[in-house]
Amino acid sequence: MNTFELDQAYIAGTYKRFPVEIVSGKGSLVKDINGKEYIDMGSGIAVTSFGIADDAWIAAVEKQIHAVQHMSNLYYTAPCANLAKALCEKTGMSKVFFSNSGAEANECAIKAARKWAAEHKGPACSTIVTLKNSFHGRTLTTLSATGQDHYHELYQPLTPGFASFPAGDMDALKKLCAGGTVAAVLIECVQGEGGVVALDPAFANELAAFLKEQDILLMVDEVQTGNGRSGKMYAYMNYGLQPDVVSTAKGLAGGLPMGATLLGEKVRDVFSFGDHGSTFGGNPVAAAAALSVVSRLTDVFLADVTRKGELIRSLLQGAPGIESISGLGLMIGLKTAKPASEVVAACMENGVLCLTAKDKVRLLPALNIPDGLLTKAAEIIKKACNPV
Ligand code: PLP
Repeated sequence: MNTFELDQAYIAGTYKRFPVEIVSGKGSLVKDINGKEYIDMGSGIAVTSFGIADDAWIAAVEKQIHAVQHMSNLYYTAPCANLAKALCEKTGMSKVFFSNSGAEANECAIKAARKWAAEHKGPACSTIVTLKNSFHGRTLTTLSATGQDHYHELYQPLTPGFASFPAGDMDALKKLCAGGTVAAVLIECVQGEGGVVALDPAFANELAAFLKEQDILLMVDEVQTGNGRSGKMYAYMNYGLQPDVVSTAKGLAGGLPMGATLLGEKVRDVFSFGDHGSTFGGNPVAAAAALSVVSRLTDVFLADVTRKGELIRSLLQGAPGIESISGLGLMIGLKTAKPASEVVAACMENGVLCLTAKDKVRLLPALNIPDGLLTKAAEIIKKACNPV
């Protein structure tokens, strides 16, 4: 059987895969099984921060694999301790809990909020409020947090204690908070799966001020927007916010599974022995990979991410069939005249891998994609979007 046949026969049918088998790559170029080359404008949905088979990343992973590939969290290991220090220094957050995915990072955020609120405000204060159109993961609890009804239909009953309101509607939020039962509000600064929709800065700041006044936790989901993607270390930094909890994953370890939940001053000591845990959380190889990513996200590098984002925007802006461009940094949504899936198929045919998000074409290239490849990809995307 070939890979397609094996996949069809043995893998649960949850993914609608593109008809391409990728076998190798370097940087922002990948090759399929027939030797056809593509410019990768998706980076594994914002995961391979420095591209495929990045030399520094390989060296960091290889070195750690030869030292120790895993130890239980019952013992100390240096990579995760150093990574936690680096994350706290780059954000001003106080402590970190490591896990393996975005959903788990959000689960930890939700647990932290519930435990903190129960201790500080009483057990009735347990509701987590999120935004409509949000996406926070696929576990039952993060699905319950996700503010999109269609994700909920198949999996009733959901975890109780969640509510959502439309971004921008402060009155709706105030109504939800009136009973004193809201522990935290969890937001994405740019809704990724929701269609690459950036929050309005005025709303984000009004929200943050209200939560501070009410002593309700502000939690930011930086799973997709984080680790340099927005042109800042975390997207909330573009908004001048100071969250109490930050969750991240995807690009953190550049291609190995890792989630992290960053705890701010208010909740720094919310967890005690046995309150939470994860067998693989903070795994030394994943942590070494993440250190290789995080240590390279300097101010100079992040300014270049912003510049690359502006470059591709300027190349695509106003092109026939591109109606609008949304997002931040190298997280880009294109509203196209043609259906997004048609544009993505035409791009693939012509050697560019793109993604969709709702009705948009979504671009999430590696943060270090060379300008030449970005320009070439923009040309192919423009042609694919052109309705004539
Ligand atoms: N939160 C956001 C904003 C995401 O975009 C995603 C995944 O797309 C998740 C959470 C879930 O992450 P994971 O698939 O690693 O569990």
